[in-house]
Amino acid sequence: EIAATLKAAGRKVTVVEAVDRLLGRAVAPIIARHVRQRLEATGVRILTGTTIARLEADNGRVAAVVTSSGERLPAQMVIVGIGVVPNVELAQAAGITIANGIRVDQQMRTSVPEILAIGDAATYRHWLTGGDVRLESVQNATDQARLAARTILGHADAFAAVPWFWSDIGDIKLQMVGLISGGDSHVLLGDVNENRFSIYHYAGNRLLGIESVNRPGDHMLGRKMLGAGFSPTPQTVATGPDGLKAALAAFQQVEPVRAAE
Ligand SMILES: Cc1cc2nc3c(=O)[nH]c(=O)nc-3n(C[C@H](O)[C@H](O)[C@H](O)COP(=O)(O)OP(=O)(O)OC[C@H]3O[C@@H](n4cnc5c(N)ncnc54)[C@H](O)[C@@H]3O)c2cc1C
Repeated sequence: EIAATLKAAGRKVTVVEAVDRLLGRAVAPIIARHVRQRLEATGVRILTGTTIARLEADNGRVAAVVTSSGERLPAQMVIVGIGVVPNVELAQAAGITIANGIRVDQQMRTSVPEILAIGDAATYRHWLTGGDVRLESVQNATDQARLAARTILGHADAFAAVPWFWSDIGDIKLQMVGLISGGDSHVLLGDVNENRFSIYHYAGNRLLGIESVNRPGDHMLGRKMLGAGFSPTPQTVATGPDGLKAALAAFQQVEPVRAAE
């Protein structure tokens, strides 16, 4: 996001990434490749598989970045985006179970039932994938806050929110719904070359999530489908948004109770 914005403002921008592709924790390789191509087309230079050996200073200000390959990149500004580590010290000192964050159950209770945890610091088993996750997003934190309040009031609802995220990178409106880890196949709608497409990710025959580039309708429909517990077949996805809307409506006629939840 910052690379695209600074480039549009006329700056010379170099992205230095340690692993072999961009956005490794966040999106599928096909989306990462697309983001890279669009950024490079605007003149952003991207170095993958490269780390920063050191920063050089001049009169107390940063003057250059020296990469692991020995290249010296003169710089007026360095922006470091290398992730976060959850602050679990307080919970740990209280004897609460920690596992890549503060472990919580489906009601946001920690291993000490009177103590709840939510948000970036909380790890939980996700209903969608069956895997353990610690999500860092506003939507996750606020959905968990609402559920934690209900737990405190004595309700026993299980966390069932559909995760979604977004990012605007230059002319790419990237929207994600669901969780795509564990996916083994995908269906593509739209046209990558036109910068308008969606990737429907599957584990076997089950829809895990959708990544959309400049197709907000697919994203919104995806939120409705996953929220209703509806997993269209890859063949239905291939019929496009109209086919999917009809299939969702048919599913909701058969499963009215779940759809109304
Ligand atoms: C640069 C940046 C950009 C982001 N962009 C997006 C985005 O576009 N979309 C999105 O969905 N998410 C985004 N996020 C993530 C989002 O901000 C977090 O997921 C969200 O704020 C998590 O909420 P939280 O309540 O878990 O934690 P926080 O918002 O970090 O709140 C935790 C609070 O607890 C306080 N605290 C810590 N320890 C103690 C203590 N011992 N006693 C009392 N208070 C304490 C902290 O000071 C802090 O105020 C972004 C994050 C960053 C850093």
